[in-house]
Amino acid sequence: MIRHDIVVVGGGLVGCAIVLALQQAGFDAALVERGAAPKPFDPAQDDLRVYALSPASIRWLSGLGAWQQLGGWREGPYQAMKVWSEDPAQALIFDAAELRLPALGSIVENSMLQWRLWQQLDAARIHGGSAVEALSLDEAGAELRLADGRTLGCRLLVAADGVDSQLRAMAGIDTVGWSYAQRAIVAHVSTEKPHAQVALQRFLRSGPLAFLPLGDGRSSIVWSSTDAARLLALDDSGFMAELAGAIQYERGAITATTARASFPLRLSHATEYVRDSFALAGDAAHSVHPLAGQGVNLGFSDAAALVSALVEARDAGRDYGSLRNLKRYERARKAGNLDMLAVTDGLSRAFDLDLPGWQPLRDLGMQAVQRLQPLKTLLARQAAGL
Ligand SMILES: Cc1cc2nc3c(=O)[nH]c(=O)nc-3n(C[C@H](O)[C@H](O)[C@H](O)COP(=O)(O)OP(=O)(O)OC[C@H]3O[C@@H](n4cnc5c(N)ncnc54)[C@H](O)[C@@H]3O)c2cc1C
Repeated sequence: MIRHDIVVVGGGLVGCAIVLALQQAGFDAALVERGAAPKPFDPAQDDLRVYALSPASIRWLSGLGAWQQLGGWREGPYQAMKVWSEDPAQALIFDAAELRLPALGSIVENSMLQWRLWQQLDAARIHGGSAVEALSLDEAGAELRLADGRTLGCRLLVAADGVDSQLRAMAGIDTVGWSYAQRAIVAHVSTEKPHAQVALQRFLRSGPLAFLPLGDGRSSIVWSSTDAARLLALDDSGFMAELAGAIQYERGAITATTARASFPLRLSHATEYVRDSFALAGDAAHSVHPLAGQGVNLGFSDAAALVSALVEARDAGRDYGSLRNLKRYERARKAGNLDMLAVTDGLSRAFDLDLPGWQPLRDLGMQAVQRLQPLKTLLARQAAGL
């Protein structure tokens, strides 16, 4: 049996970042990933899975040296975000300058960040290309058997294996949640007017539509819609025309688009984040509607809280893998994650309600937030993870 202090299953952004932070803190931490190692990032290839990273995530990744590794490549900082429903003239505007931040966040491609994180890991402690087949947990530690027959033993097992977490099921932890009627369409588009580092989000009755400014001048769109099947079936010119109309020509005409991809949307929350010798992190613990772009940011916040609970316990001579210590991590993260799930779920529905008098009330509410500077700042600070 191969022994480590901590084994993390799942080499997505959250799992890679946890392993890197643990290795830097002096733990013998290993990664198990069922897929192949990420390919070197190819700037000629578009990755449609992009993230709006919050200043808090960027600060944490900078602390690991991972942010600097990106070298500003294709990274798209954004200075402001304009949010509206019916009339762009009545939009809520969040501005980095108001928060005294250099930017509200940065748009980065999943494949680039994952490749950079992976490269920084100790290659000898990556067990790649093999899924977990069996798991046993007790108060003293965890043992897992991989599909290729290898067995691993550790004091603590961290499951960062995504929304359909197999490890979560093996540990007997339930989830609550539901699927949304909306499906998210993603593409990169060129627009007649420059994005000027401003992100847009319009709440349509069929779902929210976001334009995220990319470093190369294009915009990444995430269009969550109950009408996705029809939008996906349109040819490119039909789609570009509908998209320009849906965003009310804020960027003028759409002049080019990549192929479209789409994802189902689901809200899911694990009823427990920890067991003896076992912790969940990232989408394995929670998956949110992408409208606030918070999914991976919540995962990085989990990662930071988990690593700090483990380091503090070890440095104080306590058992870092004990349920008592892991509960500290759960307490630090669960309430905040649930708040974000509730807010994004509420927002995803608020614009679809057909109650008499609701729409003017809702629009008045948005205008009130725009005028109430302290409330607006509070909302923006929460989204920025400050
Ligand atoms: C359309 C869309 C837009 C989004 N936009 C944003 C955004 O703007 N900002 C944002 O923050 N988030 C966004 N998200 C959410 C984001 O994609 C997720 O929150 C994030 O990818 C979760 O990362 P993770 O590392 O927890 O899981 P994943 O990225 O799912 O990684 C899980 C890893 O575990 C591996 N794995 C799974 N099972 C096993 C096993 N049994 N054994 C070994 N390995 C295993 C998988 O191969 C994978 O590598 C968006 C999501 C969607 C669908």
